[in-house]
Amino acid sequence: LHEMSLMSEVFEIINQTVETNNIRQVKKVNLQVGRLANVAPDSLSFIFGILAQGTKCQGACLMVEEMPVTANCLTCDQEFHGEGFPLICPACGSRETYITGGTEFRVASLEVDEEVKSNN
Ligand SMILES: [Zn+2]
Repeated sequence: LHEMSLMSEVFEIINQTVETNNIRQVKKVNLQVGRLANVAPDSLSFIFGILAQGTKCQGACLMVEEMPVTANCLTCDQEFHGEGFPLICPACGSRETYITGGTEFRVASLEVDEEVKSNN
């Protein structure tokens, strides 16, 4: 499953952060997912729930922010938001464009409880 392998990579990054910073509990994960990342956002929370079990992310909330498609025109150098394919430059009508955004799949930020070094 495509989403499963992407989320596994995300979890590796989160776990590294958790270990480096002595984080006690992750409360919220803010994920940025480009519209071209080819994932179903709905399935991400489900997979997140499975992978989070037994980790510091258990019970954490997953927020998915969908990132728009952006492109640059090779003809006139205009940057624009792509609403559909083929990507056509709104300034000059050229189809000679290259994609600059919309393929993201990354952790934007974490909300956490820091480790408290005391015995209560
Ligand atoms: Zn153009």
